[in-house]
Amino acid sequence: MTNLPKIYAPQEIEGKWYQFWLKNDYFHAAATSEKQAYAIVIPPPNITGSLHIGHALDNTLQDCLIRWRRMQGYNTLWMPGTDHAGIVTELIMERKLAEEGTSRIELGREKFTERMWQWKAESAGYIVSQLQQLGCSCDWERERFTLDEGLSKAVRTAFVKLYNQGLIYRDTYMVNWCPECNTAISNLEVEPIEIDGNFYHIRYPVKDSDVVLEIATTRPETMLGDTAVAVHPDDERYQHVIGKTARLPLCDREIPIIADAYVDREFGTGALKVTPAHDPNDYEIGLRHELEQCTIFTQDGHISEAAPEKYVGLSRWDCRKQVVEDLQNLDHLVKIVPHRHAVGHHDRCGAIVEPAISLQWFMNVRPLAQRAIEATQKGEVRFIPERETDRFYHWMEIIEPWPISRQRWWGHQLPIWYCNACDAVTAAMETPHQCKCGASDFRQDEDVLDTWFSSGLWPFSTMGWPEETEELKTFYPTSVLVSGWDILFFWVSRMIMLGLGCMDKVPFQTVYLHGLVADEKGQKMSKSKGNTIDPLETIDTYGTDAFRFALANVSTPIPYVSLSEPQIESGRRFANKIWNAARFILMNLEKHPIPAEVDAIETEQETLEITWIRSRLSHTIKTTTDALENFRFYEATQTLYAFLWHEFCDWYLEFTKQRIAQDDPAALWVATDVLEQTMRLLHPLMPFLTEEIWQQLPLNRTQDDKSVTIAPWPEPTGENSTAETTMATLTEVIESIRSIRGELNVPIGASVAVHIQSPNSEVRERLETYLSQYLPAFTRVADITIAESLQKPPASAEAVIGELAIYIPLADVIDLEAEQARLSKRHQQAVKDVTAAQKTLDNPNFVERAPEKVVAQKRAQLERLLTEQDKLARSLAMLTESGSENGD
Ligand SMILES: [Zn+2]
Ligand SMILES: [Zn+2]
Repeated sequence: MTNLPKIYAPQEIEGKWYQFWLKNDYFHAAATSEKQAYAIVIPPPNITGSLHIGHALDNTLQDCLIRWRRMQGYNTLWMPGTDHAGIVTELIMERKLAEEGTSRIELGREKFTERMWQWKAESAGYIVSQLQQLGCSCDWERERFTLDEGLSKAVRTAFVKLYNQGLIYRDTYMVNWCPECNTAISNLEVEPIEIDGNFYHIRYPVKDSDVVLEIATTRPETMLGDTAVAVHPDDERYQHVIGKTARLPLCDREIPIIADAYVDREFGTGALKVTPAHDPNDYEIGLRHELEQCTIFTQDGHISEAAPEKYVGLSRWDCRKQVVEDLQNLDHLVKIVPHRHAVGHHDRCGAIVEPAISLQWFMNVRPLAQRAIEATQKGEVRFIPERETDRFYHWMEIIEPWPISRQRWWGHQLPIWYCNACDAVTAAMETPHQCKCGASDFRQDEDVLDTWFSSGLWPFSTMGWPEETEELKTFYPTSVLVSGWDILFFWVSRMIMLGLGCMDKVPFQTVYLHGLVADEKGQKMSKSKGNTIDPLETIDTYGTDAFRFALANVSTPIPYVSLSEPQIESGRRFANKIWNAARFILMNLEKHPIPAEVDAIETEQETLEITWIRSRLSHTIKTTTDALENFRFYEATQTLYAFLWHEFCDWYLEFTKQRIAQDDPAALWVATDVLEQTMRLLHPLMPFLTEEIWQQLPLNRTQDDKSVTIAPWPEPTGENSTAETTMATLTEVIESIRSIRGELNVPIGASVAVHIQSPNSEVRERLETYLSQYLPAFTRVADITIAESLQKPPASAEAVIGELAIYIPLADVIDLEAEQARLSKRHQQAVKDVTAAQKTLDNPNFVERAPEKVVAQKRAQLERLLTEQDKLARSLAMLTESGSENGD
């Protein structure tokens, strides 16, 4: 009957079961159903290639929730799909094109877009296959792509709707500009990175005066675009120069000296150069004083014609060098002071971002942000962990207009048309036929939308919006959104705002924001640090189930969760343990098949261990369900691990092994039942292994259950505290005896006598009833004495559990003197090792100079040695004591 191979080989079972699930359509959600709906939309992976460790964690947790709810009987929908990912994907393609010796511009928009679609076809398929390898039970029939026809219609509909509400508008404003990507980007896409820079102190002479203003700047090249010098209106040092003009070095221009309260008197010399075209604060000052905006950079980060001829065409960096050199030569440079400061980089391409004045499309997100705050306050959205709620409020309160147009090609082209005759602007779903001026000749805006615009519509665009579909009625708002906390602002908040704006309802009831995966030292994983764990390699080595178990096991509610190989190995060992337990049970079932009347097992012979294991199973079901309800995945894994490994394998199977061998199959049948239910409990975490084992177990076949995937989630049946207390006493006593035997080197074959003293009559009664029955399964015992009080026998080892004492006379089972000598020698060695390790760690040279990892290893070694030393000292004391008593 048993078809489980001797060795657990995940590679051989995982693909097979995934195909089985697909074939049986288990992942497909009905558009309408009597069942309660439970929906999650996947955070659509970018079509940029392979999934990373963050995806693995994110999708494991989602699959776990979906599988669990499916078993609970919900109509579950896990909506899958991919994101076109705008600039990121374009950059990948541009690198490929460069390798081919061509470029985006050379190819032209149409050909370039064609190439992008080819890339999408390959890449999306690869991503889907990786999600399938991870076991994700997505509804693949509904797979979507942010640029597909339906979603594009949703994007245009949303745009036109928001435009008509006055929330989308065009404006000339200062935006963040990426000179590498040649496009405007939003604040969120600018990543501040600390770099070593300088303060350059420059002299600005005041015209018709001896006064020279000293001004400090980190960007001397921008002085070519200065159009004023500003001082604080109340700054006594500068009262006499306000209203005069300064001569701008290198430029042969005169610029006004103005007073503006924005200037910080304490900062530097209290005088500020004002470059309205290249600094957001200067831009505001410029507007207040109607200053000229002198744009000295081209869109690709070179010096424009607005600058003196000498600098035109230089790169930003060459220009800085040249300006500094020229200032020095002309004696306008006072000093250069090193200064470390944060500089904005484009998060996608890494280029340093330029503030630039530009005509762009914006979305006024304030009204929607206000609605998002109100909806959250009313409890329509709940954030887990709760601390994220405050981050969300804060963000919604300080939110600024969102620049949504990008000067790129890969994305949704703005549904905006300009009349070629009168330049009138029309927002529409299709090219308009006629302008109000009578002309019928239009051009569409060339820009595409920020990629987050379409992903912001994801929870309802994927379900067919703007049509009023059954899917929307059934599944919107969705149940949970699972994501890393790092995209709360990028994505989650935009979905909430756009959900309110388009659907008048928040897109999900709960947002679960998990930590980001870090290495064992808590460092964020990144390719450049070389500390990443590749999901596919890990799956190859350890199997998907072990990997998923490890991921769920580390996902505690902290910002960075540490994952390391040993944790995945431990997942693998757990899978092996389950496999072996299942094989043991299946092999025995060949000899003792379960009769048709399965229920008989419960009534006939309810022995202590059967009552106990059923009670523990019930507890496990309750705790696991509770953990999943509250997104405590780590608690679910720990509960199941402890139950299966320690309670079920270490105790229950050990207790019953001999009885099973002696043709007493009730314990075996119960074991089968417990294993079957546990496989169901474990299924959301380890889908493949549990399916393989569940399929072999001869239980629960009366219904139409063809797969554990659709089997019902187990229900707790109640706990039995008497059985639990009794078993707790028994296991503690047995463990103490075993550990004394181990520590004192009692030969395995030697029988020992056990004397137990307990003042508690209930405890004594329990031990008298059960100890002799259970102890032989674990250790050889010749004789058990249990008494309210007894004399400690001569030459005996001792263990104390609360008010209970255990004595084991040793004189007849070991050579006391030889054992004493052996332990004493080992103890001396341990003391020496501890001293040596301590000495190394006391040496400041070692601690300061050795690599962090080596120091950490040494510390761990010392910990281990100290524990060992303690243990040996205890054992030795026990022997010395018994030895001396022996001599009495
Ligand atoms: Zn860029
Ligand atoms: Zn017109």
